[in-house]
Amino acid sequence: MRKQIAAANWKMNLTYQQAEKLLDDILDAEIEMKPDQQTIFAVPYPYLIMAKSDIEEQKQYAVAAQNCYSKKSGAYTGEVSIEMLRSINVNYCVLGHSERREYFAESNTMLADKVNLCLEFNIEPIFCCGEPLSIREASTQNDFVTRQLEESLFHLPAEKMKNFIIAYEPIWAIGTGKTATTEQAQEMHAHLRSIIARQYNSELAETVSILYGGSVKANNAKELFSCKDVDGGLVGGASLVAADFIEIMKSLKQ
Ligand code: PEP
Repeated sequence: MRKQIAAANWKMNLTYQQAEKLLDDILDAEIEMKPDQQTIFAVPYPYLIMAKSDIEEQKQYAVAAQNCYSKKSGAYTGEVSIEMLRSINVNYCVLGHSERREYFAESNTMLADKVNLCLEFNIEPIFCCGEPLSIREASTQNDFVTRQLEESLFHLPAEKMKNFIIAYEPIWAIGTGKTATTEQAQEMHAHLRSIIARQYNSELAETVSILYGGSVKANNAKELFSCKDVDGGLVGGASLVAADFIEIMKSLKQ
């Protein structure tokens, strides 16, 4: 079975002390995870080393950066490069979160550059896609996300797309308390898998983990994750409360 993932996106929340406590509370719960299950914490840059050292060698846990810059190095004051992340052994990086696309004007082309850099430095992208409300209301969401994948991912050779991680995050469901229905989530995840199959092949498409994001909570995670093509979640608000995120981790497909 492809990897089932509970990914926490802490965004720009928590002080260092609060972050340490949250992580400790989650790790102290000693949730048993199967070999094909994983929990990833996407934490603010200054907390990456602390989080890395807290999870030590526990294979079922990993940390992710929430972003990286699209250039290798140089005069880009305030930015963080992929090589810097590699040098502190970060193995994952969230790319193309809708907040990055909206507030920092990240385009599909810029994201293609970031994807390339991540792969060059052996960092696995968690690539976010998803449509705004106006697109959902016009029923053109499939075309919209297809373009996001075509312009940012489909230049990659097949071996790079194998075991890739994608997060489908309908923007109208992020931080709004409005969750996609299981039918809406399954329909879009199946669509994403089908376009990957069309571009590459269906065997490869079956290895891609497609996470759902958008108001995943302790009380709806199990139902969402039970959908055939939903391989876990990327969780914002509920990942800031230890008890809630522990429940979400426990909701991964067995
Ligand atoms: C997110 O930030 O990726 C997200 C899905 O947020 P929330 O769970 O709060 O909707």
